[in-house]
This record gives sequence, structure tokens and C-alpha cells, in this order.
Amino acid sequence: MSRSHTVPSRWGEFDVIVVGAGVGGAAFALALTHAHDLRVLVVDRHTGPGNINRGESLLPPVTRLLAEWGALDRVRAAGALTVARMQFHHHRAGLLLDVPLALPGVTDPYLVLPHPEIERVFVEAAAATSRVEMRYGQRVTRIVVDGGRARGIALDTPRGDEEEIRARLVVGADGAASTVRAALGIELPRIPYGHALFILDIDRPPGHPDVLRTELHPDGGILVVPGVNRLGLAALVHACDERLFRSGSSADKLARIAHRSPLLAGRRAAPVGIHLYKLWRGHAPRYAARGAVLLGDAIHVINPVMAQGMTMAIEDAAALAHHVGPALACGAVNEDLDGPFAAYERERRPINAGVIRWSHWMSRGFALGGPGVDVLHRRVFGLANSPLGRVAQRMVWSRFATSPT
Ligand SMILES: Cc1cc2nc3c(=O)[nH]c(=O)nc-3n(C[C@H](O)[C@H](O)[C@H](O)COP(=O)(O)OP(=O)(O)OC[C@H]3O[C@@H](n4cnc5c(N)ncnc54)[C@H](O)[C@@H]3O)c2cc1C
Repeated sequence: MSRSHTVPSRWGEFDVIVVGAGVGGAAFALALTHAHDLRVLVVDRHTGPGNINRGESLLPPVTRLLAEWGALDRVRAAGALTVARMQFHHHRAGLLLDVPLALPGVTDPYLVLPHPEIERVFVEAAAATSRVEMRYGQRVTRIVVDGGRARGIALDTPRGDEEEIRARLVVGADGAASTVRAALGIELPRIPYGHALFILDIDRPPGHPDVLRTELHPDGGILVVPGVNRLGLAALVHACDERLFRSGSSADKLARIAHRSPLLAGRRAAPVGIHLYKLWRGHAPRYAARGAVLLGDAIHVINPVMAQGMTMAIEDAAALAHHVGPALACGAVNEDLDGPFAAYERERRPINAGVIRWSHWMSRGFALGGPGVDVLHRRVFGLANSPLGRVAQRMVWSRFATSPT
């Protein structure tokens, strides 16, 4: 039978407990402790930074924040590549559109780095402030509630007993199936997509440039992200074809999408990191309750076609740190934080809602299939190359490449 006890922390008491060391939780710990002398505990049920590739794009608004938090050099040192162009290729007609990712007045780079590396770098940058204690391999089972408000967390420890830890603030950054959100009684209604994304890595062809590519094909598009000696692929799979991607070797699975792009001819699939992701969209009706607050996938899930999930989680983290940090640094207790929570939600909700909407419409275009779609793709991308099309391209890109704040 499990026992419950309260264990003193390294500092005797934490100011903040963050549940989840994904990009959102780690970014929040970094943003908060970079600016304030606060003691933060970050807990994750995994034994270390994630090993699944689920988004590698660090867009200019995010690299701007990383520079502000002193973490951009670490990201570059971890092997991040700079991408300056996005190309759209047709499986027969070749290059249809080549778009520069630069915008007037934006000097922050667009970087790509495998997701597990991003998580690792964020956690290391947060720990380097000496104000963050990181605990991997510990699952939060419940929120400690006192007087109707969240006062701490209860953990399953590796010893098999339960540990209670208290703090002035509990932040749920524990992803789409958030334990904290459930404990606060907040739902995340999710609408499923009729397509999934099949993720795998291939070897990088010699001479392949550092560009983002979209391969257009009526059976489903493929997003291609460059990496060191590898290319990360995310191939659209319609619901009726999903079972084909659930069995067989990595080579078999690559063979099932090889006809969609000449880029894949003769390539080898990496044996690890292959996944078929179900996709959803949804937005929680509240970001905070009972004295605790949520961020990232715990409050919103989106179609990843515009590479925005990570950006939203990191921008949530920055906004939350901005609103609660000064109050906590001045000694605010849990009861004083409802105002900062409301300001955080007022700032982020309309932005997040807009990104969910845009990503949804973009995903509908990306998921178009059938015989007429080849003609449509060529027409649309032909128009995008016109002077008016270039203005539209710039408008769409500036929505994602410029900071909302
Ligand atoms: C196929 C796919 C492709 C994607 N591509 C992109 C992309 O190109 N660009 C982009 O920006 N985004 C992309 N995303 C979205 C992106 O991965 C997420 O939006 C982002 O990782 C959310 O970060 P988070 O920190 O909020 O949550 P998560 O990354 O889910 O982290 C939550 C953490 O909480 C921990 N946790 C959960 N429950 C508990 C518990 N009870 N106790 C302790 N720890 C717990 C988990 O172990 C995990 O580490 C993609 C997603 C998918 C599925």
C-alpha cells in the first residue's frame, strides 16, 4: 500500500511547481527564473527529455524569446539549422513556388532542431539559472487542494510511495491529456481530423539545401524539414489508409509514400522515431481555476500543418511568466494570482484561437485529395507566383513570423 508524506525540497519550499517538462513547461521555468529570483520545481513522468519527434520548427517569434532568455546560443550549439526558404514541389511538375522566409524588419532566424533536442536544451538552460530543480521519472497523480485552492502536487515516487510538495503556484504544462487540467475540472473538447500524420526520418540526399519543403501529391502532401544528415518527413495519411501505416518494417512504410515525391527515390528510412499521429483541434474554455493555471497543449491542440503547436506553448509560457512573475517576486500568495491569470488569458486566448482557426483552414487545403487536386495545386501555386500572390504570401507568412506582443 502506498504511503503519503511531505518531503522538504532542496530549498525547503518552492515558489512554483511546473507539471511537465515539455517545451511549454521548460520554457516557462526558463522565462520565470531568467527574470526573477524564484525557486521552481519541474516534474515530468518521463525519464528524460522526450524521444519522439513532434515538431522541430523554432519560428522567429520563438527565437526572439530564446535570445531574450539567453538560450539561443545553446540551441545553435545543439545543431540547429537556419532555414531561409520554403518550397512547394509537385510530384511531376517539380518546383512550383519558392518563398523567402525573410520579412522586412524581422531579423530573428527560423531554426530547425529535432524536438527531443529542443526539450533537452530548454531544460538545461532553465537548470543553468540555478533556480530550477528538475525531477524526471515522477508522475503527478493529483493536486493538493486546501481551502478550495491548489496548494501543491502529489507525486508517485520511484520508491512506490506518494510525496506531497507544496508551492505558491501550480502550473499544468502536462500536455493534451493533462492531469492538472482534469483535477481543475476544465475540459478540452477536441474535434478529430479525418487524416493523420505519418512521421519518419530518411537519410539526407547529398547537396540537399537547408529549405523547408512541401511535396504536393493527390494521395497526401509531405512536409520535409532538413536536419544534420537527415530529413524529417511528415506525410499526410487519410483515415482510410491508416492501417497500411500500422504494420511492416520502416522500409515498407517508406515504400508506401515513395511515389509521392522524387525526393524519396533511393532513400533509406531510419528505424527509430516512426509514428502515426492522430490529429485534433480544440481550445479549453478556461486557462485557470482553483488557483492553478495551464499552458501549451494542456489548453489547446491544433493541426500541426503550420508548425504552430510549439510556438503557442512557448508564447503561452512567456506571457504567463510576464504576468505572474512580478507578483510572485513581490511575495504574492496563491489568492493574489487570479488577476495575473486573467491578464494572461486575456492576452493569449484571442491569439491562440486565431492560430487554431488558421491552422485548420491551412490543413484543409493540405489534406485535399482526389483527381482534380493536381490541377488545383498547379493553378493555386501559379497564382501565388503572380505579383498579387506574392503580397498574399507575405501577409500569410507575417501572421506566423511576427510576434503577437
Ligand atoms: C505529429 C505532430 C507534429 C507536430 N509538429 C509541430 C511542428 O512542426 N511545430 C510545432 O510548433 N509544433 C508541432 N507539434 C505540436 C507540438 O509537439 C506541441 O504543441 C508541443 O509539444 C506542446 O508542448 P507542451 O509542453 O504544451 O506539451 P507536451 O510536449 O505534450 O509536454 C507535456 C509533458 O508533460 C509530461 N506529463 C504529462 N502528464 C504528466 C504527469 N501526470 N506527471 C508528470 N509529467 C507529466 C509529459 O511527459 C510531457 O513531457 C506537432 C505535434 C504533433 C503531434
